[in-house]
Amino acid sequence: MKIFNSLKRQKEEFVPITPNEVKMYVCGPTVYNFFHIGNARTFIVFDTIRRYFEYRGYNVKFVQNFTDIDDKMIKRANEEGTTVKDIAEKYINEYYKDADDLNIKRATVNPRATEFIDEIIKFIKDLVDKGFAYVVDGDVYFETKKFKEYGKLSHQNLEDLEAGARIDVDERKKDPMDFALWKAQKPGEPAWESPWGLGRPGWHIECSTMASTLLGETIDIHGGGVDLTFPHHENEIAQSEARNGKPFARYWMHCAFLNVNNQKMSKSLNNFFTAREILEKYDSEVVRLFMLSGHYRNPINFSIDLLDQAKAALDRLYNTIGNLEHIIETAEERELNDEEKAFLNKLYGYKDRYIEVMDDDFNTADGISVIFDMVRDINSNINEKSSKEVAKDSLSLIRELGGPLGILQRDVRGNLENEIQRLIEERQAARKAKNYALADKIRDDLKAMGIILEDTPSGVRWKKI
Ligand code: AMP
Ligand code: ZN
Repeated sequence: MKIFNSLKRQKEEFVPITPNEVKMYVCGPTVYNFFHIGNARTFIVFDTIRRYFEYRGYNVKFVQNFTDIDDKMIKRANEEGTTVKDIAEKYINEYYKDADDLNIKRATVNPRATEFIDEIIKFIKDLVDKGFAYVVDGDVYFETKKFKEYGKLSHQNLEDLEAGARIDVDERKKDPMDFALWKAQKPGEPAWESPWGLGRPGWHIECSTMASTLLGETIDIHGGGVDLTFPHHENEIAQSEARNGKPFARYWMHCAFLNVNNQKMSKSLNNFFTAREILEKYDSEVVRLFMLSGHYRNPINFSIDLLDQAKAALDRLYNTIGNLEHIIETAEERELNDEEKAFLNKLYGYKDRYIEVMDDDFNTADGISVIFDMVRDINSNINEKSSKEVAKDSLSLIRELGGPLGILQRDVRGNLENEIQRLIEERQAARKAKNYALADKIRDDLKAMGIILEDTPSGVRWKKI
């Protein structure tokens, strides 16, 4: 498998540290609000990458953190007149609700920064002891000049960064690019005891600490949205490699933005939809199909129109799934004939092609095209006269290729039957209420779906035309 490694700016063959295992860490949300669908893109992309590794036989250890202490959390707690802990509790629950609805698999571990304070303090202490960090008035800063490779991820050098930095008002820092590992407590802020007095951890150190504690000092993959490349990930590398003297992550992966009118969707620009708002109107599989229709390294523009197009595309795929389910229920059980054998071989060719494109840096856009090509072929080759087996194999292949994308896993027939039953009951209720116009309309709607009703002494029966 090939991965585009942001560190080297090139695609590289993926070689795991431990055979058949992937240790990956993805930066998770700051839990002070509902997440928006820009965040959702990053979560869905890494969920898909994780699922695809699993599909290819890897055992994936997937860690995604919750940032549950920072300025935004404190501000939010003050606004709501509650504690940072309560805000975290509330929005972590909301995160799980929306992430589950988006069919995002639960991580192996979702560590919270505040559960790792002892480890964070130890990490910072090691950096101070090794001369990479210094203490000023209860704050601890990382001294970027001491880490010779600073800038290697974002491909910048320290001199340029210093020149570009705004005149730093904080004169206590030795260099404008130095960053806080530990922040001394300000009045009213939550704080923990440390060798430098009461305070709280900086943002970057939490990820370095949790990644190394849970996955090891060198991990396979570190990921996040592209906005995290600098300074967050650059700083994570500096801290981790300064302390451990070995590479932090072998592959760095960054997901491009979900934009609105070519601008990043973000809370601060107020151009966002929460995932929850979108999920009220669209099925999670529609959202996933839309998100994965572009390659993860290309920005995508969000619009309701594009979501509607994704919905129509997904309906077409489910139409085929429904037909196959019907054929499986009704077709005869017999040996495959030669034509069918040849057809199945052709279908396995689509699977090979799918693996080929997905192995190439998780090209979900091409993977989805392969599924559509395969489904088109199934539509023109399978019908009521086909054998049960060929329909079964076709359906399981569709589901198999949809699996890593988190789509195409639902049953249509079961759902259709529920829907018909619901409409029949609605019609009965309309008749009881003498609303014959509505009752007739429901009968017509069902007819348009290919369903006819028969009123019998033992109740209403339906059958497919
Ligand atoms: P935050 O809660 O803002 O730290 O963001 C959580 C994750 O979502 C991070 O990996 C961000 O890089 C990512 N993210 C934020 N906005 C967007 C966006 N518009 N498109 C894609 N990813 C985003
Ligand atoms: Zn992080």
